[in-house]
Amino acid sequence: MIFNTHTHLNDLQVEDIEALIKNAIDNNVTHMAVVGSDYNTSLKALEIAKSHDNIYAVCGLHPSDSEQFVGNSDIFLDLINDSKTVGIGEIGLDYHYENTNKEKQKYYFETFLKYACNIKKPVIIHCRDAYLDTYELLEKYHKNLDGIILHCYSGSVEMMQRFLKLGCYISIAGTVTFKNAKEIKEVVKYVPLDRLLVETDDPYLTPVPYRGHQNQPAYVTFVVSEIAKIKEMTFDEVANITFTNALKVFHL
Ligand SMILES: [Zn+2]
Repeated sequence: MIFNTHTHLNDLQVEDIEALIKNAIDNNVTHMAVVGSDYNTSLKALEIAKSHDNIYAVCGLHPSDSEQFVGNSDIFLDLINDSKTVGIGEIGLDYHYENTNKEKQKYYFETFLKYACNIKKPVIIHCRDAYLDTYELLEKYHKNLDGIILHCYSGSVEMMQRFLKLGCYISIAGTVTFKNAKEIKEVVKYVPLDRLLVETDDPYLTPVPYRGHQNQPAYVTFVVSEIAKIKEMTFDEVANITFTNALKVFHL
């Protein structure tokens, strides 16, 4: 069995969602976390989770969405507190685009970290071109956090070593299958087995050999295969260890 820890099925039409879940299960991807990026997508993630066994929700405010957010973020608390919500995310920092409002991103990142400290559910971190600031805030809160997942990790091995000391899990996405993904392949080589998770981040970031097509939860099998190759393990060994890790971090 495989646990895909990060899918955005909630970004798709209902008819497609059911077909993709079926295809995932047919490929032994039995468990998934559907991740929200704002209020509406978090709500939809929870709806999907509530209507399927072994599918769980992660609710939060993505850094890029936080820039447009108006109102009181406490509206997320009902979603976050739901028993089918296993984590808080995706939250974090994304400095990739010019003119990002770093202060606003940091404000909401910190707000959700505080929720996580109170509610005691793990945080799912989106971090792009902002590893140092992300590290600083996680360092500040990690002692009171219940678990930290760095989703679609794309940083260096050195940075990973620092995050591991904070207790972070490293979630690997389809980008590891890309030919030029030297750094991520290095990360996979060195990440301890008890901190490793797998995901697709679908419908984005389609792995090889389906580049050019829409990504889907079942394709996490290509991530597992690539990791198995790099770590010189069997497919089943990687599937089993990442499954066990996901159950542990999500308290399932
Ligand atoms: Zn995502």
